[in-house]
Amino acid sequence: MTVDHRISTYFETGTLPNLPGDHFINGGPAVAYAGERMQSFDPGRGVAFADFAAGDAADIDRAVTSSERGFAIWSATPPAQRCAILNAAAQLIRAEAEHLAVVECLDSGKTLAEARGDIAGSARLFEYYAGAADKLDGRSINLGNDNAAFTLREPVGVTAHIVPWNYPTSTLVRGIAPALAAGCSAVVKPAETTPFTALMIADLLIRAGLPAGVVNVVTGTGLAAGAPLVRDPRVRHVTFTGSVATGVGVMQSVAPNVTGLTLELGGKSPLLAFGDADVDAVVEGALWAIFSNAGQICSAGSRLLVHRSLHAEVRDKLVLGAKALRVGHGLRGPDMGAVNSSSHLAKIDDHVACARARGVDIVTGGMSLVDQDSGDGWFYAPTILDDLPANDDAVLQEIFGPVLAVQVFDDEDEAVTLANGTEFALAAGIYTKDISTALRMARRVDAGQVTVNDYWAGGIELPFGGNRKSGFGREKGLEGLDAYTRSKAVTLAV
Ligand code: NAD
Repeated sequence: MTVDHRISTYFETGTLPNLPGDHFINGGPAVAYAGERMQSFDPGRGVAFADFAAGDAADIDRAVTSSERGFAIWSATPPAQRCAILNAAAQLIRAEAEHLAVVECLDSGKTLAEARGDIAGSARLFEYYAGAADKLDGRSINLGNDNAAFTLREPVGVTAHIVPWNYPTSTLVRGIAPALAAGCSAVVKPAETTPFTALMIADLLIRAGLPAGVVNVVTGTGLAAGAPLVRDPRVRHVTFTGSVATGVGVMQSVAPNVTGLTLELGGKSPLLAFGDADVDAVVEGALWAIFSNAGQICSAGSRLLVHRSLHAEVRDKLVLGAKALRVGHGLRGPDMGAVNSSSHLAKIDDHVACARARGVDIVTGGMSLVDQDSGDGWFYAPTILDDLPANDDAVLQEIFGPVLAVQVFDDEDEAVTLANGTEFALAAGIYTKDISTALRMARRVDAGQVTVNDYWAGGIELPFGGNRKSGFGREKGLEGLDAYTRSKAVTLAV
């Protein structure tokens, strides 16, 4: 079936054929132990289009038991063979890319173009870490002539991956690809609103040659399925992406077992435009930093800090750009898609309503929308809040939607104070033509990554992660392997 045919079939029937709907345990579909089911909604229409297994502690127990067996097999598989299987997975993802992208678009609400980008990036992640699988060497250490000493770089064991709904495939793969390259096995708990691509990727991995049990997927809610997974003492590392509140709870849950943890918890990342910046580059960068994926990105540039000399011009151009964005159902080719759920839409709306009530200047947007063709769906207008003080709630809190907070500064010190003035520290963009300003700011702004004159610069090769309440640990890049390997020192008396 071509992608156009698939899309027209969906709009005619309201369903997609051949969606997986059970857990994926021990190499194939597994019915939920208690037989419970949940529905998945198309955010672009606000209606359910499929259902899936609602897992619980019994399903997690089965999955972790399977992953323990999977770990025994996979950790003993020669690295070159692991490399070949991960490369084969990348090829299969490319072959299935259009199908995966349509499913991702329907499940998450994002545009088809964004979904295609995420799937392509996921194939690249498997390739990137395939290339590392046979290079995870230890080192030889010189203790003098009476000893031989070296380190082994070993896989940590069974890993758990708690995945959010904003990037269901690429967040999953940036965790499991390095884990698999290192020789670990994995149990995945996708977000309750976006379960399907994780099940499809698990199936593709088996087709690529991954032994049964190495990757298991249990769908369901955070409380019923996620909580027992992170508490399981057989899990040796948890990779969590999501909200601060849930992340703190996960941290407490893993503490009794002293389980390793990577936390990726979001941000309130600033884009700083200095007085010498190229205004059009700032405007283009700021629009895409906040309105990509309808602003539902942990590293979204949700604050624009602009020098007073550029403020009026930048603001006016931003408003024109925001108004020109076509918002609609992801499969109909808009610039911006839906937000992921009705409850999340209500949260965004509430943030903006409170801003309006305290007198914030909303220069464009500030309302929910419906799809122009169907009259349905969960959409929010591209919104800009202008000239906010440093202590405004819209500056301090992650709204996780298409809402940009603009702040004005007069000099570099003030820009740094504003940039570092929230409890988050994930990403930052610096716009200036002065290389000294760029390099000084790269050091002075607290963030896991700083880009200069291009907000979304870089890709899977760069380490990604935050400081402070944005979390800890790094994913992507070669640093992404660290969480899944541990060093063992060995000495021999000679
Ligand atoms: P959440 O943190 O509640 O959910 C993220 C994942 O954690 C989901 O898979 C969920 O099922 C799971 N989970 C929930 N409770 C759990 C528990 N007790 N134990 C283990 N796993 C659990 O996020 P949400 O409710 O989907 O979204 C709320 C907010 O989180 C958003 O408004 C946004 O601010 C933030 N968020 C951030 C990111 C990010 O990329 N950092 C992604 C999605 C959401």
